Amino acid sequence: MNSSSIQPLGRTARGVPVIGEADVVVIGAGPGGFAAALRARREGCSVIIVEKFDMPGGVHTSGLQGAANTGVGGIHTELMERFAAAGAIYTATEKELPDWAGNALSHYDYYLEPGSPFRRASFNPDAAGNIMLRMLDEAGVHAIYGAAFVDVEMQPDGGQRRITHAIIETVQGRQAIRGRVFVEGSGTAEVVARAGAPYVRGGGRQPETVTTDAQARPIPGGLLWIMSGIDFAQTAAYQKRENDPALSKLINAARAAGDIPPELYRPRLADQGVYGDHYIGHPTVDMSPIQGPGTFILWQNVPYEWALHMDDDAEHAFRAKRELRRLIDAEAAFLRKYAPGFQDAFISHVGRYVGVRDGRHPIGEYVFSIDDAREERRFPDAVTRPMTKTFFWDQYAKYTFEVPYRCFLPKEVDNLLLTGASLSFTFETIFMVMRNFPWCCQTGEVAGHAAARAIREGISPKQLRWTEPLPF
Ligand SMILES: Cc1cc2nc3c(=O)[nH]c(=O)nc-3n(C[C@H](O)[C@H](O)[C@H](O)COP(=O)(O)OP(=O)(O)OC[C@H]3O[C@@H](n4cnc5c(N)ncnc54)[C@H](O)[C@@H]3O)c2cc1C
Repeated sequence: MNSSSIQPLGRTARGVPVIGEADVVVIGAGPGGFAAALRARREGCSVIIVEKFDMPGGVHTSGLQGAANTGVGGIHTELMERFAAAGAIYTATEKELPDWAGNALSHYDYYLEPGSPFRRASFNPDAAGNIMLRMLDEAGVHAIYGAAFVDVEMQPDGGQRRITHAIIETVQGRQAIRGRVFVEGSGTAEVVARAGAPYVRGGGRQPETVTTDAQARPIPGGLLWIMSGIDFAQTAAYQKRENDPALSKLINAARAAGDIPPELYRPRLADQGVYGDHYIGHPTVDMSPIQGPGTFILWQNVPYEWALHMDDDAEHAFRAKRELRRLIDAEAAFLRKYAPGFQDAFISHVGRYVGVRDGRHPIGEYVFSIDDAREERRFPDAVTRPMTKTFFWDQYAKYTFEVPYRCFLPKEVDNLLLTGASLSFTFETIFMVMRNFPWCCQTGEVAGHAAARAIREGISPKQLRWTEPLPF
């Protein structure tokens, strides 16, 4: 295997200056890309990773989604241990927040019996990003931050095509990185799209009337933000005293006074069958404690009706950025003016980007569907041992199933591996189930291991015969 090299290496067929080469080139350093890069490097490959923001972690750091789940093994457990050792995890329980369990304002714990014990752990997104950055450095991954992947150069390869170079945009303009195996870590299948490989646009079957691409309504994405200086005990006392669990009385008063825009705090649309009773796209005060008393993460979701394709429609992406910042300001102003406990609160962070929940779904050599989960199918090329997950989409049914390696192999491209939210899954399986942080880390490790084996054996990832699940 080569060692990665960052040095002028001539020009690509299209004349783009080549600035480096590696065995494995990873695009995007979210949980999927990060774990893929680390695993491939630890298995001896040279690795270059390209990330458009200034740290790894994706939605979970740059996007402020700091939920700290219990370690599921491998790099995910290592991350949780490193975050904890650095004091970057805050754990709230009924001792700190006696009125949190079952509270209508809670993002994760609203369904608990009021007053019951709970444990909610969140990591500090910036501290976590710094640790992830250090882990890549320690392993010897060459990370390029602040550079956007914009294109690929490719060559025919038998009946397929292979990527020869990733084209990135840096402060010096367009530059190329040569690689043997490429990893899709963008979270929105951008490499797949630029490589001209097939995918389905975001926008699932909800509402049932969707028949054309133009009618498709992607599951709304969201921009997370952090508010500090909240005295939640005061809020809880108000909720009880006025019997106003969801702050509806305050919201109505603010609406009557013209103090909040109509897109904010709409009633849940459950009776219309749109995403059931879920919060997504039905803005409501939606928060989770982070980093000590008084500081909470809040979710600002794109209203469902806007039906934005933020991953592949530039105008939609611009609109989401503009409008969500406007809604954050409006929400913060409302809370400060009307909600007891928020009078001294302030916006302390806004995520660096709007997270896309339902972007492109690549079509791989196998497309994992909800029936694979329902029928608990087994596969000879299962990437992990059977896992049990709860499917929100299926009335919270629990299934124990396996995922085949072929879901990591996009059709038509021979040397690209998928990870994270860009696996070859149908949207109802990826949505709320198979796109969580732990699984995205695991998929990254699968891809990193597959890349390293392919390099060692001198074959392409598609020629690799996967027979042993990774032991997580
Ligand atoms: C609003 C929201 C809330 C969520 N809530 C939860 C939750 O509570 N719990 C949970 O477990 N999961 C949650 N998820 C899901 C989870 O965050 C994602 O599915 C997961 O982060 C996907 O990992 P990924 O590595 O595929 O992509 P991402 O985390 O999206 O990371 C992709 C990375 O690639 C980079 N990138 C993208 N394009 C380029 C480019 N062109 N050039 C260079 N770099 C690029 C991005 O900057 C980013 O760092 C949420 C997702 C969203 C959007």
